[in-house]
Amino acid sequence: MINNLFAKLEGYYDEMVSIRRYLHQHPELSFQEYNTSKFIQSYYEELNIEVKGQVGGNGVVAKVYGKKPGKTVALRADFDALPIQDEKDVPYKSLVPGVMHACGHDGHTATLLVLAKSLYELRDELEGTYVFIHQHAEEFAPGGAASMIEDGCLEGVDVIFGTHLWASEPTGTIQYRTGPIMAAADRFEIEIKGKGGHGAQPHKTRDALVTASQLVVNLQQIVSRKVNPVDAAVVTVASFIAENAFNVIADKAKLSGTVRTFKEELRQFIEEEMERIIHGTCYASESTYQFDFIRGYPAVVNHEKETEFLIRCAQVVPEVTNIEETELQMGGEDFAYYLENTPGTFFFTGARPMREEVGYPHHHPKFDIDEKAMLIAAKTLGTAAVNVHHN
Ligand code: MN
Repeated sequence: MINNLFAKLEGYYDEMVSIRRYLHQHPELSFQEYNTSKFIQSYYEELNIEVKGQVGGNGVVAKVYGKKPGKTVALRADFDALPIQDEKDVPYKSLVPGVMHACGHDGHTATLLVLAKSLYELRDELEGTYVFIHQHAEEFAPGGAASMIEDGCLEGVDVIFGTHLWASEPTGTIQYRTGPIMAAADRFEIEIKGKGGHGAQPHKTRDALVTASQLVVNLQQIVSRKVNPVDAAVVTVASFIAENAFNVIADKAKLSGTVRTFKEELRQFIEEEMERIIHGTCYASESTYQFDFIRGYPAVVNHEKETEFLIRCAQVVPEVTNIEETELQMGGEDFAYYLENTPGTFFFTGARPMREEVGYPHHHPKFDIDEKAMLIAAKTLGTAAVNVHHN
């Protein structure tokens, strides 16, 4: 059975590449993926595969039924792009100014479409039900996963698998991890309200720029002095705005940034600690503030049994030459929501382009993937989906 699936996937590899390149040339931003969504839905419709569009937004869910009874297994691929100008010199470069598939979601989509088609053609030999979750809006919180789940995409699903093409690792590598693998990704906004005035008369003002500067420094103490060093956490102030003429003291300053954690208690602790430090810093400078801590995706936490099963599946794929545990990734992923509801695992499929010694990082204007990694992702996901009934 697995060999038949591998043969099908290899036979459709060129199609996989052309789908990926088409999507790469026609990227759409999160929550605006109307044409991509239609493209995916039509692909299934033309094959007479059961499909439903507009699931929780632009999401698309297709289903393939095996002839024999078995579990219901879901596979997920996201399909949104990023507000980045494509600076690669390739024939399949983005045709949309300022928008680019700079995270490989085009590759995820091509992988899943062709895998679904192959499984559909082999349905007489299959057990169970296969649910193909094409998710919109992964890049932008609140994301598409939560609304697709709310709209029923996980109903009846026993187990779920997902992968991310991973340009930092060479093609042939599969990286797994049991338990937390990707961080909770939260955002904060702080507005300091002081009292503006003449640059020559600081004593009559409450300089918001100075207070905000102290705050940037004070916030560094959370990770360095308050968090247990064996726990991973990030507090990054990424933006500082206090614009003024050269001789004017700022009455307002705005800071924004991101917090990354793996444990819920630590996530809460950092939010409380930030509030305390902001309060204290503003108290000392007689300023007031507005602090908003906006929760993004929770941490992606893989299930043990499914992760161990996935490792065994990857061993079956001939092109997989290296299976290793990944270190914790501080990036976020809304695959987290699926795993809160359903057993499963999320893993990385190495996809570093051969022409690069070191791949450009995800979200870089020159980001690209090694397309052969799509075949490896399809074979690994496919093996997991077909064999999970006996796990
Ligand atoms: Mn991504």
